[in-house]
Amino acid sequence: MKYISTRNINNKVSASEAIIKGMASDGGLFVPETFPQIDKEFLISLQHCSYQERAKKILALYLSDYSAEEISTCVDNAYGHNKFDTAAIAPIVSFNDEHCLELWHGPTSAFKDMALQLLPQLMSTALKKTKAENDIVILVATSGDTGKAALEGFCDVDNIKIIVFYPQEGVSDIQRRQMITQKGRNVEVIAIEGNFDDAQSGVKRIFNDNAINELLTSKGYNLSSANSINWGRLLPQIVYYFSAYCDLVNTNDIEMGQKINFTVPTGNFGDILAGFYAKEMGLPVNKLICASNSNNVLTDFFATGTYDKKREFFKTISPSMDILISSNLERLLFHMVNDDKQLNTWMNDLQTKGTYTVNKEILEKITAVFAAQWLNEEDTLTTIKDVYDKYNYVIDPHTAVAWHAAQAYKNLQNDDSCMVVLSTASPYKFNDNVLKALNIEVSGKDEFTLLAELKKYNKQNIPAGLTALNGAATIHSGICQPEKMAQAIKKYLKI
Ligand SMILES: *Cc1c(COP(=O)(O)O)cnc(C)c1O
Repeated sequence: MKYISTRNINNKVSASEAIIKGMASDGGLFVPETFPQIDKEFLISLQHCSYQERAKKILALYLSDYSAEEISTCVDNAYGHNKFDTAAIAPIVSFNDEHCLELWHGPTSAFKDMALQLLPQLMSTALKKTKAENDIVILVATSGDTGKAALEGFCDVDNIKIIVFYPQEGVSDIQRRQMITQKGRNVEVIAIEGNFDDAQSGVKRIFNDNAINELLTSKGYNLSSANSINWGRLLPQIVYYFSAYCDLVNTNDIEMGQKINFTVPTGNFGDILAGFYAKEMGLPVNKLICASNSNNVLTDFFATGTYDKKREFFKTISPSMDILISSNLERLLFHMVNDDKQLNTWMNDLQTKGTYTVNKEILEKITAVFAAQWLNEEDTLTTIKDVYDKYNYVIDPHTAVAWHAAQAYKNLQNDDSCMVVLSTASPYKFNDNVLKALNIEVSGKDEFTLLAELKKYNKQNIPAGLTALNGAATIHSGICQPEKMAQAIKKYLKI
């Protein structure tokens, strides 16, 4: 299986090269040339397997230049060793006919762990396989969750260093503490005097800066990315769609072969795109519902065919979905048209004009698979309260957006397929807004008081990783201006 760039189909690489590079040099994203096809027998073969075994079988379909043994080691390192707080890894919890896929049982309590526990394993294996001479330096700009999950995943992985930049004022107290207390011999965390866009633009500038790239190469380093533009981050996410399906068959909620729906709280379009890949491979999926918060650029796109990022940016209580450029939509569009020239035109329009439009035929092809809904702030809080009142179950604001979108879709479309809502963060990462939703007074209380407060309502234990932050020593106190990020990298690498 080869991977091609969405902007030049002649730019063809192996899985390990795609994972090492992170992004194609022509500015495009790597996609699989074809989708491996599965049948009912394959699904049956997964049915009684552990999550790890399911992962190994699915990964093998895509990682054709990795040996079965290599895949097995990668998966065991990622999802074994009690790194997740449940043996199921990604369990489904069901209430009557509502099903919620909990993706936040990993070490940082965010769904990013599902991919960022495995990506470092795949990358270090790829470095060994390709006999790469240079080490990799992963640069991450984070608005909170990705930074910690990437630090945890790459911590002490051979031949890789990781540098995370976070906006000084732009992350929650818990998220900042998670990052500045990170241990590991190959990790660096730096605060940026600016917002997330400053951090992200700074990282992109460095990726495109020939002088610094040449200097790094001469000193034995190459840059790469841990964001969902990297194929190695998308691939692990395909697994839980299959796993959820098998679990529902095992609980007799569906019959083998029956089509189901998934609703996905969406930002960069990585998570839901993995669901599309699962469907293209042959998993019985009817619809994928894309749930957005007030930054509803995708809802508008699915309704009109026009993607328009020229709009007000809202800071919401579901911050991991506060995004106006959903990078992975580029991959979906490529699969819809199979035309790299067309992709160059659209992406160029997006960059220069801030907008592009797909024609009616393409839009119909997309909406045959995808539906979209969005939710405002007030209704997000109300949904948290409603779900708690109805089921005594606490959800975080991102999950609430999806929960409501799933209901709205069902009511509107009269589609009674079994529906799975993807739950992307532990409510303990968003204590104050969740407590506010439950009508609990939060003012004047610190994060750890709020954690204990939420425990009174939430049956789940407080994740060990969050409890351990109380009193943990600060290891990273570096801070720099956005213009000085390159210097900060050189200083850390001592070059
Ligand atoms: C990253 C994230 C999302 C969005 O996922 P995408 O793959 O970017 O669409 C949703 N919820 C949470 C909690 C996240 O961290």
